[in-house]
Amino acid sequence: MRTVARRRQIYEGKAKILYEGPEPGTLIQYFKDDATAFNAQKRGTINGKGVINNRISEHIFLSLQAIGVPTHFIRRLNMREQLIRQVEIIPIEVVVRNVAAGSLSKRLGIEEGTQLPRTIIEYYYKDDALGDPMIADEHIACFGWATQDEMNDIADMAIRVNDFLSGMFAAIGIRLIDFKLEFGRVWDGDYARVILADEISPDGCRLWDMKTNQKLDKDRFRQDLGGVEEAYQEVARRLGLLQPDDDFAVRPSWRRSSICRSSCRRRSPDWRSSWCSVVAASSPRRSSSWGSRCRSRRSR
Ligand code: 5GP
Repeated sequence: MRTVARRRQIYEGKAKILYEGPEPGTLIQYFKDDATAFNAQKRGTINGKGVINNRISEHIFLSLQAIGVPTHFIRRLNMREQLIRQVEIIPIEVVVRNVAAGSLSKRLGIEEGTQLPRTIIEYYYKDDALGDPMIADEHIACFGWATQDEMNDIADMAIRVNDFLSGMFAAIGIRLIDFKLEFGRVWDGDYARVILADEISPDGCRLWDMKTNQKLDKDRFRQDLGGVEEAYQEVARRLGLLQPDDDFAVRPSWRRSSICRSSCRRRSPDWRSSWCSVVAASSPRRSSSWGSRCRSRRSR
């Protein structure tokens, strides 16, 4: 059940909805299955994405808080929602790159997968109508989007997040290619502090399997590579966020049918508790869900 049913909607984005929270200064962040790419020119649904991103983002934000990175995350409420601190969003997307890919490869003609000699931090102005254009520190200072002190804090946090996440993903056989962060201000009287906001999930990161270079992120949706849901699940599973099942063990090729079939068979008799059924049941809109296929297979 959605706890937000009677709450006031504050904002709806491409992948999330923000509702008024239970206390002043809090919001509820609801994770949708909707996916967009290329400045929303491509639209679709990734079944169960909201559930998985909620869980992955919770895990990452809690881990970052544990190493002293301040974030807006308070706690996860249920499968698709988390309670967060209300922040004044700084209108800048901060992209951290370790390996050439995506718009960097396109813009500078650097082959995708090339290790960068050093980590790069880029800034983009958050404006859908303008297509989130790349900006320099000079623009940020000139237009007053953030102060120099705030930008210093943002750059320091971005590097810390990168160091931590690179290690965390390397430990589970995933190479962190690049990712996007967003930050917001919280006010304590006249004093503003910058904290990490939004989410960190395969929607806003490039994650490649270290052995095979297989993409385990939203590029599978952007580039019509197929296996999108499975890629997100694979990341969650390697992070230990899906209940491990013997048949869920890492395998070189992770295919929908084999994962689903084995999971459903092995989780009997209470098949409703299986991950795929939970994801299916919590998805607000479902077309051809693999969860529903699981149910029909079992009832046969
Ligand atoms: P690129 O600039 O190469 O397209 O993206 C760099 C990184 O930032 C990628 O990991 C990409 O997923 C992330 N990123 C950039 N812009 C956005 C955005 O508007 N939304 C999300 N979810 N991720 C973004």
